[in-house]
Amino acid sequence: MRRRMILHLVVFALAMWGQPGLAQEQQAYATGISSPKEALGVEPGERPLRYDEVVSYFRLLDRQSERAVLVENGHTFEGRTLVYLLVSSAENLKRREEIRRQLAALADPGATGQAEAEPIIRHSPAVAWMMYSIHGDELSGTDAAVWLAYRLVAGEDSLARALRRQLVVGIDPMENPDGRERFLAMMQQWQSSRPNPDVQSIQHTGVWPWGRGNHFLFDLNRDWFPLVNPESWARVKAVAYWHPQLVVDAHEMGSLDTYLFPPAREPLNPNITGALKNWVHKFSQAQARAFDQHGWSYYTREWLEDWYPGYGSNWPYYRGAIPILYEQAGTEGTVVLRPDGTRLTYRQAVEHQLVSSLSNLSTLAANRQAILRAYYRHYREAVRGVGSGKPAAYYLVPGENPSRLGELVKRLLHQGIRCYLAEAPVTVPDLHDVWHDGPVRKTLPAGTVIIPTNQPLRFLIQAILEFDPRMSTHFLKWERETLLKQHRTRLYEVSAWSLPLAYGVAAYWSGRPVRANMMLLQTWEEAEGQLYNQDAGYGYVLSWRDDRAEQALVRMFEAGIQVRATVEDFSVSGRSFSGGALLIRRNENKDPLASRLAEIARSTGVEILGVNTARTSAGPDLGGNRFRLLVAPRVAVLAGSAFSTTSFSALWYLLDQQLKLPYSIVHQDRLAQTDLRPYNVLILPAAWSPQSLTDVLDKSVLKKIKTWVQQGGTLIASGNSAAFLADTARHFSRVRLRRQVLDRLQEYAWARRLFEGALNRPVDSLAVWEASPAVTTPPANKEKPLGKSQLVQWDEHLRLFQPRGPILRADLNSEHWLALGMGKRIPVLLYTSFAYLAKEPVQVVARLSEGKTLRLSGLLWPEARTRWQNTAYATREALGSGQVILFADEPFFRAFFHGSGRLLINAILLGPGMGTSPPMPGLGAGSSAN
Ligand SMILES: [Zn+2]
Repeated sequence: MRRRMILHLVVFALAMWGQPGLAQEQQAYATGISSPKEALGVEPGERPLRYDEVVSYFRLLDRQSERAVLVENGHTFEGRTLVYLLVSSAENLKRREEIRRQLAALADPGATGQAEAEPIIRHSPAVAWMMYSIHGDELSGTDAAVWLAYRLVAGEDSLARALRRQLVVGIDPMENPDGRERFLAMMQQWQSSRPNPDVQSIQHTGVWPWGRGNHFLFDLNRDWFPLVNPESWARVKAVAYWHPQLVVDAHEMGSLDTYLFPPAREPLNPNITGALKNWVHKFSQAQARAFDQHGWSYYTREWLEDWYPGYGSNWPYYRGAIPILYEQAGTEGTVVLRPDGTRLTYRQAVEHQLVSSLSNLSTLAANRQAILRAYYRHYREAVRGVGSGKPAAYYLVPGENPSRLGELVKRLLHQGIRCYLAEAPVTVPDLHDVWHDGPVRKTLPAGTVIIPTNQPLRFLIQAILEFDPRMSTHFLKWERETLLKQHRTRLYEVSAWSLPLAYGVAAYWSGRPVRANMMLLQTWEEAEGQLYNQDAGYGYVLSWRDDRAEQALVRMFEAGIQVRATVEDFSVSGRSFSGGALLIRRNENKDPLASRLAEIARSTGVEILGVNTARTSAGPDLGGNRFRLLVAPRVAVLAGSAFSTTSFSALWYLLDQQLKLPYSIVHQDRLAQTDLRPYNVLILPAAWSPQSLTDVLDKSVLKKIKTWVQQGGTLIASGNSAAFLADTARHFSRVRLRRQVLDRLQEYAWARRLFEGALNRPVDSLAVWEASPAVTTPPANKEKPLGKSQLVQWDEHLRLFQPRGPILRADLNSEHWLALGMGKRIPVLLYTSFAYLAKEPVQVVARLSEGKTLRLSGLLWPEARTRWQNTAYATREALGSGQVILFADEPFFRAFFHGSGRLLINAILLGPGMGTSPPMPGLGAGSSAN
């Protein structure tokens, strides 16, 4: 009865809202609460509001009204405070902690039975989380958020009152302040006296690095589970804390488009429940009605997919919330002229976002009880656990790189996932690993992290940890048809992301309920760094396995400490070290060495072991030349519009935040004038396409870089930049694009077999001493070779099915310095149409696996397997005194593929010492230029 009355109110209020224009004037507003116009002097949608204006207005609402509370919840890289505004009735806000606790209880059915849940469902307000403009150049959301806040706080109309009574609304007005401020500064710079509606003008296109990303140019709308950025940490914390039932994420899209909202089309993530999908449909229908009242254009499905869990419009599903995405055609804060002669103004764009928001809030208010009940049921289903054959628990094993695992577990804990620590070794009879091996019985050590799936966040656990989620056959058929008929893909994002694979940690799942001695982890305890045997007679050694060694090495370079490394395993003073371990000799360093090392150990968390002797019990002695002197990297990374921001942002972040290494960013336009001699490492991020580099790296610049490499430089390139350098037209690298050596495939296959055979062939003493049997050539492929044009045609066909972000297995040449600290195989993400072949003298350090072992996660068509198996992922080749290192794709993808990221880190930190021949000292003045 009560519900019906509210429905009437809402429908009535919506009808009132259904007038053209922003219509704020037609509403009744409480006195004493300033409108944005009164506070900031800006009409709705008159121009995009700046960060300071929005925050000061929200602070004003907080001061002026008991219906609004401002919460600060973090800082951006550039130091801006992240805020959200809680809006509800004064009564609700006074008891907001109680409301929050009750909703948290609904989300924990293990502790909350039906009898306790029912009164909460009946009486508690629902929570809506309204987030705007995660992409800084998508402006209209933020201004809509400001007007929404005013309407909800000050509105005295029946809709505003009903929403305040039924809901607690969290408004996150600006998800990416750094990006928005950068973009607004750009727009101001190019402002004209009269608004320019031409979408091709710089007032609409902007200039590099545009406004989409945050400070490091990350796309924050991919970061909901990788959690690389502080904005994401803050947002996940807020949403996890307030337990919303509705999460809105408001974006913009191309200017010539209209408006898009859910439902999505396939592929759908298999961890989305049918109940939530149904609710999305209901919200969509109501939103459509709201738009129909105005005669506005909109559409649903088409390109919107729900596969990748790192979107703001997908991640909420796994917390039992209904996610709604808005995509409004962009106007860049002014006006755009469309081909049909109509104009879209910023004010209209803001209005569309506002009407959408009010529609969604009304739907939530009108269905409050039913949605709270669905919320509770979602969590009940989660804790019930899984059926047989599915993961009942995940096991993450620390191994020799506990800090890598720590970084992963910290992110799981931040999501609110319950993780346990095995206090004793635990034997599990059916472990499946990420390599598709298993099930096997295995005993895992104490310290293993256990994540049972019969817990409230089961769907989230599955969505982000599951090794190999599958797309529906229905979608595969559709995708294949689209590829063959239209030569395009339906995939909007990478097809795989599983965190254990991305982190490259030892991980398993088991279908059996957990039986282990374990304790709930509250936080992840960081290991304490320490220097043992400070007064060591000979020197100091530390492992290169743990990720913290990277920062420790950077700090040693900074302190001018001479550090050596070897590719071989060795044992000294009763401890074994695998290849890559670092050695600091006392006699090569100035005092006070020990106290410096102790400080580095403390601040970076590594263990450094002092040794009294150079004599090892296994492996090379510490005093010989097998330990190569490392050279501090002096890094320049190229940047500019030719390079993919995904690739560049990860590189920039790696150098700045993860390694804390000094570096220079050289803009692509300055390359011709740049003196490369101060640098010994030059990094080319992946280009958007090889063609986009033809102007940046013209003949003379390429020649200059080549000369610099030949004189001892380390050049690193990935993705399309690697393809550019490997193109035979460049005469730069001896790595080859498969398509350019189709008539020589046998040659490369033969070279690979020869190399692998040489590594694996056992010694036959009879053959050595008795000359029997003779060495025979491997059997040649007997098939009649195809003609060249057939080969090209066939290769083009295979290329259609290129890998679009599956995770594949790469086998490492673990004796190569580039693979140090990594073991024998790693999962790598591959999104490329290029396949690379290489043979001696090029060293293939990481090679994609073959056959059934190649695909670990995500979509890889059989055609792609045929084309990419056994091709090179990472290569290293000498060029003069220097070297060229190529990666088939960005190894540190989105700054969370730590497994393959280590290859890149080795290239940067170890490359100059291990892979180049710097000139002998004393042979010339100014030897800093090599
Ligand atoms: Zn967007």
